[in-house]
Amino acid sequence: MAGRPRGRPARQSARAEAEEGVVSEPRTLAIRVLPQPGESLDSWLEALARRSWTSLSALLDALGLPTEERTHYLLTGLPPEMFQRLKKQLNLRVRVLEQSAVPPALFGRRAPHWRFCPQCLNEGQGRFPTRWWLPWTFACTKHQVLLHRHCPSCHAEPRGFLPRSVHLHPPGRCMRRTGLRTVCGADLGELPALALPTGTLCCRPRISSTLSPSTNGWTPTEPSQKSTSAYHR
Ligand SMILES: [Zn+2]
Ligand SMILES: [Zn+2]
Repeated sequence: MAGRPRGRPARQSARAEAEEGVVSEPRTLAIRVLPQPGESLDSWLEALARRSWTSLSALLDALGLPTEERTHYLLTGLPPEMFQRLKKQLNLRVRVLEQSAVPPALFGRRAPHWRFCPQCLNEGQGRFPTRWWLPWTFACTKHQVLLHRHCPSCHAEPRGFLPRSVHLHPPGRCMRRTGLRTVCGADLGELPALALPTGTLCCRPRISSTLSPSTNGWTPTEPSQKSTSAYHR
């Protein structure tokens, strides 16, 4: 594994040290996949796991990140200090991850849901933007189509649960588990485009300007959302 800490298997690294009470400086790992502008944190970590030929959960373990069942925890549940450590471990530039996660206050008590554009998945080799997790994102403005929400094969939300053995499957596939060692595997990039009713996107610019990602993270423009402005800085 290219990004694995030297001298110790990934699954025994950060977590084992924590259990043993070892306090040490976070290792700097060599990476070959950089996050794209606006890319979702789970998308980038999955791409990194694929390139490192390891499962996503093993990579998260090696980085000392939680391996929660729900995927959206990576976007909404990581405390700022964990982000800082991640940037140090992966030797990333300042603010390069600010648009990869979402303030949990945006969702209130509702769990985030992932939607996707098949064409974008194909063009991006399975990688996708953070905005696909946002509650108000329902269409792809690039391809002028509605986003899909469910896998056509297992009829479930493809990223509801943390994908595991991503290195064993091509990108852009539904990684929903169907058994102990099996996943759905449907090619989400093959789904037909969902036609967008005429005029559907007319109000989107106004919605986007209410809360938009910036180089400093997510910047609210309305007083009611000021509580999220200090997130991930
Ligand atoms: Zn698209
Ligand atoms: Zn599926």
